[in-house]
Amino acid sequence: MENVEVVVIGAGQAGLSSAYHLRRTGLTPGEDFVVLDHAPAPGGAWQFRWPTLTYGRVHGMHALPGMELTGADPGRPSSEVIGEYFTHYEHRFGLSVRRPVDVREVRDADWGGRLLVRTSGGDWAARAVINATGTWDRPFWPRVPGQELFRGRQLHTSGYRGPDTDAFVGKRVVVVGGGTSAVQHLLEISEVARETVWVTRRPPLFRAGPFGPEEGRAAVALVEQRVRQGLPPQSVVSVTGLPMTEEMRRARERGVLERVPMFSRVTEDGVAWDDGSQAAADTILWATGFRPAIDHLAPLRLREPGGGIRLEGTRAVRDERVHLVGYGPSASTIGANRAGRAAVRDIRALLAGGHEAAAGTGTSTGTGLASPAA
Ligand SMILES: Cc1cc2nc3c(=O)[nH]c(=O)nc-3n(C[C@H](O)[C@H](O)[C@H](O)COP(=O)(O)OP(=O)(O)OC[C@H]3O[C@@H](n4cnc5c(N)ncnc54)[C@H](O)[C@@H]3O)c2cc1C
Repeated sequence: MENVEVVVIGAGQAGLSSAYHLRRTGLTPGEDFVVLDHAPAPGGAWQFRWPTLTYGRVHGMHALPGMELTGADPGRPSSEVIGEYFTHYEHRFGLSVRRPVDVREVRDADWGGRLLVRTSGGDWAARAVINATGTWDRPFWPRVPGQELFRGRQLHTSGYRGPDTDAFVGKRVVVVGGGTSAVQHLLEISEVARETVWVTRRPPLFRAGPFGPEEGRAAVALVEQRVRQGLPPQSVVSVTGLPMTEEMRRARERGVLERVPMFSRVTEDGVAWDDGSQAAADTILWATGFRPAIDHLAPLRLREPGGGIRLEGTRAVRDERVHLVGYGPSASTIGANRAGRAAVRDIRALLAGGHEAAAGTGTSTGTGLASPAA
């Protein structure tokens, strides 16, 4: 077992921002703190996103602190652009990310006020943990009666590799979900499919105007409020609405964005509604989002009766040694940047032995949601 001051779990935007600030405040990577990630390569969840999600199609991707991302070709997949950028970033700041290391559980070490981090690559004892594990590893599949009967294919956004595959070309496709990813999938699949049906639980809210800092602040405040109450964080799009782009306007003219309400069951050959209507389908694509990947924190019993983890800034109210970054209101690239900085400021005060000094220092994760996630 190795002893360190801090373990950072996850090397996406939130984990790397945290590592940058830990180093900046004088801690040595690999000695005073370690960053663990179970993915095979740098890039956080970006490395797994579909190739047609080009860099030009992500809006408001904020650079990590201390190093700009310049000159990227907007036509290249964001998985490649951001994977390379994160690789340079890790080298430039000598962050020594250990991968692939899967964190299996975090529990109280029962000695020295430490936390025990158990992983596929050994155990660490730490005085604080920054959890930056994102959501990609926990795709959310709603349960709908009859799902197991369906003879076609069912995929989730997490397994989507673009429209030019057997699952979509010339096929009848049902896309489920009201977020940005659902709309992006729908737009490109509609170009190759025989027919598409778009299903959402609630009527989608399209936002015509620009999404400025004020709207960003308002959206973050709403998600923050839920997290402060110990409720599970909701999707950001449910707060901000969908941005109406030129591409979407054209798709709407083609009739692609005609949404229908959620079906009540899946049949062998498609989906069906209570009023007796049906849609035949070869493929159902569940663009139904993700949930925080935090099962490894279960032994710490951080969850509130409402199902979420109550945070003060980024700090878990039930355990001051644990911070969650990239969670809820900080689940965006700019939010993750700010959360990393806030968590480190708080943890440095904890390590210095004066947590009161950290409390109330304004660990708000800030405004920014430049572009809402799915
Ligand atoms: C399709 C899509 C498009 C988006 N577009 C934008 C955009 O345009 N602009 C924007 O600001 N935001 C966007 N977002 C949101 C943004 O990607 C994230 O909020 C942001 O990158 C923060 O990432 P993160 O570090 O919290 O998580 P991630 O990038 O998911 O990183 C988490 C890391 O933790 C690791 N990990 C997870 N569990 C474990 C474990 N048990 N043990 C070890 N390692 C573990 C994973 O391997 C991963 O590397 C988008 C999200 C999606 C899904």
